Amino acid sequence: MTSAAPARRRRSRGVLEWPLVGALLRWRHSRLLLQVPLFLVALVLVLHGLFGPRLAPMNLATVMVWVHYRGALVLVLLVAGNLFCMGCPMLALRDLARRFVHPRFDWPQALRNKWLSIGMLVGVLFGYELFDWWGDPRATAWLIVAYFGAILAVDLVFKHASFCKFVCPIGQFNFAASTISPLEIRAADARVCETCTTKDCIKGSELSRGCELALFVPEKRGNMDCTFCLDCVHACPHENVALARHEPADDLGLDPHRSGLGRFSKRPDLAALVTVFCFGALLNAFGMVSPVYAVQRWMAGVMHVESEWPVLTALFGVALVVEPLVLLGLACWATRAATGSHESLLTLGVRHAYCLAPLGFGIWIAHYSFHFLTGLLTFVPVLQKALCDLGAPILGQPIWRLGGLPKSAALPIELGLLSLGVIASCVVAWRIAERSASRRTLAAFLPWAALVLLLAGAAVWLFEQPMEMRGTFLQ
Ligand code: SF4
Ligand code: SF4
Repeated sequence: MTSAAPARRRRSRGVLEWPLVGALLRWRHSRLLLQVPLFLVALVLVLHGLFGPRLAPMNLATVMVWVHYRGALVLVLLVAGNLFCMGCPMLALRDLARRFVHPRFDWPQALRNKWLSIGMLVGVLFGYELFDWWGDPRATAWLIVAYFGAILAVDLVFKHASFCKFVCPIGQFNFAASTISPLEIRAADARVCETCTTKDCIKGSELSRGCELALFVPEKRGNMDCTFCLDCVHACPHENVALARHEPADDLGLDPHRSGLGRFSKRPDLAALVTVFCFGALLNAFGMVSPVYAVQRWMAGVMHVESEWPVLTALFGVALVVEPLVLLGLACWATRAATGSHESLLTLGVRHAYCLAPLGFGIWIAHYSFHFLTGLLTFVPVLQKALCDLGAPILGQPIWRLGGLPKSAALPIELGLLSLGVIASCVVAWRIAERSASRRTLAAFLPWAALVLLLAGAAVWLFEQPMEMRGTFLQ
């Protein structure tokens, strides 16, 4: 047999073999093609946020960050994958800084989990509500600056991608959301990896560093923790890494050992991340509908406080701690009663919680796409005004009437996206139930299907409420 024969049998490298796009992605510095433009955009947003108009709908920082960035983020995650981590401009600055400052320390063992980053994610959601960042261009600009500062502070002290894997709240959001993305990084041909002696995809080579997120390609499953940085693609001397089709949500129902993660069923922190991802989606939407004000007034009266932070703290505690504990606890208890299982509630909860990821994504994308679609063109007059203020009216005078889809057209899209999340969550719940030791699949499935439908019903109710048009002039 000639040496060409195995190569002919090799599986496709997916997108990496596409004309033009594949060649660009295989180029060693391909990431910069996204990072440099996004760095320039971030710079413009900071400058306009600090020195531009103070009215949020007239400032690029608030309009682009809170209307367009978030909407584009979830839509790209749905149709492609974690391209926003791939193009993260903060990583470009970090890599530049690491040419001069070499990190010396490994990330502490006690923090090698998702608990800190879950706290950061909750902190961002909390700060967004408490400080009304969506309505404050100065605060939004400083938030961007702080984010750049944070990644430098962490990654110039600690080696590898410590910030991405263990700290970054946006990263954790993207990791949880990308479980439903249609693309993943994986080995093109497992047999090639079996005979590979160098393992450059994880160890690194002269061509490129290895995976900074500790994901060994042949043992990697799904998208969790993958930033799509493509370092493994460039490091592998056998051109055996593919950017290929991923069945959305498919691996959430399975429990193999995953490189860099272990087994999902042994990771309470990952289960908690997915749970916060789902309940946080509901809470974030709840923060924008009119009933929240009545609830906050009532809570302030009960608590005898006037300032907002104690009320918000209590609201977050109920929504992200008490409510998940009660609802998931009930689902675990019902599963145990129905299947006759002797497993602990914690074991059951950690195994089943992953079914909430698609639903959570459905709620996030329904909510963010509403703002994105109804405010799609709102950045145009803001950009026109900024250019006019700079004395370069090359786009003409601001056309403030530009908006986007009417709200009535956005609601069916929201409900359609939410429905996809519900269906995917039920499929994942079924597949997890199939792993039940008792083999009573239906009995193990029903409590979690009921939980998914209950949360989806809450989301539908929220979407039917009048929603604040934060960051735009639309009413
Ligand atoms: S370097 Fe390439 S061939 Fe070797 S284990 Fe990694 S992906 Fe497989
Ligand atoms: S597996 Fe690792 S190196 Fe490869 S794209 Fe994902 S994060 Fe980057």
